[in-house]
Amino acid sequence: MGTTLLERPEKKEQKGSKLFVPDYIFVEPNALNYPLGQELYRRFQKEGIPMQMTTSHNQVRGIPGDTEVEKYRNAKRTLVIGVRKTLKFETSKPSAEYAIPLATGCAAHCHYCYLNTNIGTKPYVRVYVNTDEILDKAEKYIQERPGEITRFEAACTSDPVSIEHLTGNLKRAIEFMGQQEFGRLRFVTKFHHVDSLLDAKHNKHTRFRFSMNADYVIKNFEPGTSSFDQRLEAAGKVAKAGYPLGFILAPLYWFDGWEAGYTDLLERLRSQLVPEAMEDLTFELIQHRFTKIAKSLILQRYPKTKLEMKEEERKYKWGKYGKGKYVYPDIQAKALQAHLESEIARLFPQARIEYFT
Ligand code: SF4
Repeated sequence: MGTTLLERPEKKEQKGSKLFVPDYIFVEPNALNYPLGQELYRRFQKEGIPMQMTTSHNQVRGIPGDTEVEKYRNAKRTLVIGVRKTLKFETSKPSAEYAIPLATGCAAHCHYCYLNTNIGTKPYVRVYVNTDEILDKAEKYIQERPGEITRFEAACTSDPVSIEHLTGNLKRAIEFMGQQEFGRLRFVTKFHHVDSLLDAKHNKHTRFRFSMNADYVIKNFEPGTSSFDQRLEAAGKVAKAGYPLGFILAPLYWFDGWEAGYTDLLERLRSQLVPEAMEDLTFELIQHRFTKIAKSLILQRYPKTKLEMKEEERKYKWGKYGKGKYVYPDIQAKALQAHLESEIARLFPQARIEYFT
C-alpha cells in the first residue's frame, strides 16, 4: 500500500456542492480482485490520499480523531472500498420492492439523516466494487416475479449521486435496468452532480428524484448538500434527458411558518421547472421522524442543532422488529399532509402523489 499510517492531511475546506474527495481510504483486500477495485486503488494512490487495508468493510478501525465528534467528522470523510457479501436485498416499502445495495453512507451532514438510525455506528462511506454480482442478484429478484414490475430503490443507505464520480455504479445500474422489461430503478439525491448520468441509456426505467425542502429546513439542517437552486437546475437537466422525474419532500417538518414555507417551496418549483419535467412527475411526502437511538447520536454529533425531537410532543409508531419511531401526532401529520396535497394539486395538477408517510 502507498501509505500504511493514516496521517491527517491538511484540511481543505470543501463546500457541500463540491464533489466528495475522501481524506482517508480503506481497502478490503478482496476488492482488488475486481476491476473497479483495482481502478480505484490506482487512482487514489496516484492522488496521494492515505490508504490502508482493512479486513472487512464492516469493521474499519483507525479513523483518526481525539473526540467522538472528531472521529465522526473524519469518518464522514473516509471512503471504504469493499465487496458486498450479503446479496440478500432488504425490502423498501413504500417506494420500492427492494433496496439495491450499491453503496452505504454519505459525506453530507443532514442533522435528521436516516443514516443516524440505519448505520449509526459506522458513518464512513462504503462503495462496493462487485457491481456485476449485485446486478445479477437484482435480475434474479425480477425473475421471481414473472410478469410483474419489480422496483429497486438505490438510495436506502446512501446518496448515490454524491459518490457517482468515484464508482460509476449508478450509471451501470441505470443502464442495466434500462434493459430489463420488468425491472425499474429509483433513487433520490440532494446533489446536483448529474452530468455523467444524462447520456445513460435509461429507457425511462429509472425514476430520478430530488429531495427538496422549505428554505428553513435546507438552511438549518442540510449542511454539505447542494443548494435548492443547484438541485432544481439538475432536475431540469434530468427531465430534459428524458428521465421520469420525482420530488421527495422530506422530512416534512413543523416549524414556525411551515405553511408559507412549503407553499413558497412549491411555487418556486412550479415557476422554475422546465416543461419537460411536467410530463411524468411524482411527489413523495415523508414527515419527520426519529428514533431514540438516532436522537442521542444527533445531539452528540450536532449539539447545537435546532432540530426539535421532544418525545412528549410526538406520537410513537411501532415498527419492524419492535423498533419504533416518533412521528407527529395525527392532528399535525394530517395538517401537513392536507396542506402539501392541496398545494401540489393546485400547482402541479398533472403530477401524482405516491404516498404520505
Ligand atoms: Fe443523509 Fe441524504 Fe443528507 Fe446524505 S444527503 S446526509 S444520505 S439525508
